[in-house]
Amino acid sequence: RKGNVIITGASSGLGLATAKALAETGKWHVIMGCRDFLKAERAAKSVGMSKENYTIMHLDLASLDSVRQFVDNFERSGMPLDVLVCNAAVYLPTAKEPTFTAEGFELSVGTNHLGHFLLSRLLLDDMKKSDYPSKRLIIVGSITGNTNTLAGNIPPKANLGDLRGLSGGLNGLNSSTMIDGGDFDGAKAYKDSKVCNMLTMQEFHRRYHEETGIAFASLYPGCIATTGLFREHIPLFRLLFPPFQKYITKGFVSEEEAGKRLAQVVSDPSLTKSGVYWSWNKESASFENKLSQEASDAEKARKVWEVSEKLVGLA
Ligand code: NDP
Repeated sequence: RKGNVIITGASSGLGLATAKALAETGKWHVIMGCRDFLKAERAAKSVGMSKENYTIMHLDLASLDSVRQFVDNFERSGMPLDVLVCNAAVYLPTAKEPTFTAEGFELSVGTNHLGHFLLSRLLLDDMKKSDYPSKRLIIVGSITGNTNTLAGNIPPKANLGDLRGLSGGLNGLNSSTMIDGGDFDGAKAYKDSKVCNMLTMQEFHRRYHEETGIAFASLYPGCIATTGLFREHIPLFRLLFPPFQKYITKGFVSEEEAGKRLAQVVSDPSLTKSGVYWSWNKESASFENKLSQEASDAEKARKVWEVSEKLVGLA
């Protein structure tokens, strides 16, 4: 049978390019978990995906009710789940004030981390039941949340501190809107959320790899300077960022190339290792990359896991 893969945020950018790359092989059925059904339908058509290779299901990661509803709908479809790709994200670098999810969490960490945390925890049981030979749970990371890299050292740097804001509910009422308890900073909130993504992947690996055989992985697909991720940025930035990445840092990858990379992490028989953060070199060959100290701190990973469980109502 075909493999079934859920990709969140498959209505644009990396998620769409990955959906296309997998659908084209004829070996995958892609379940596109998207907040805007019509946009997703148009997107799938625009890249030429054929009907029998995908299903769109509504998923708004900024609402935990929606996450639970999505899992219900998916389970009712009767499809087995072989691979889950947590790809969707929001990035709000110019926001002066915080905005919030349905449950009142700061939007970037609420969507990118907490929404995916609940989703992947709920879907783990479905993945356990699948008889697919190579099951994988993939969370898209980023270099910007990784302070052992040049890009990760551009201020404001990711820093989760002692998690006091997260423990307090990240709501700006009785706690800070930032994980470390500091003042709101949209760019930092995104980087912090990506550190949480990378820590979550490793904690999944420690807790569940042996028992389930599922490979847990994260990746940095390269700088895809053309995606909608930068839609909230100032116009001058949006104009200069792609050529800057192309000609100066040379870290630029096209959406198509990045999609092929993520598709490799989904299906390549040589990328089955668990607990790994994948990157690609200039020749576009994959290698196991090292994470920053904070993004590989086992104690922090456990704490983020435990605090997040409480926030999403699992503990
Ligand atoms: P895009 O903005 O193009 O894609 C993000 C996707 O997430 C969109 O499809 C968007 O939906 C979806 N999304 C946002 N909020 C929600 C929500 N509440 N519920 C469901 N879906 C939501 O950006 P990219 O393709 O660049 O980003 C994809 C991933 O790649 C992210 O995890 C990002 O952190 C990561 N990444 C990107 C890099 C880059 O250079 N661009 C570099 C490294 C990592 P909609 O279409 O409705 O807006």
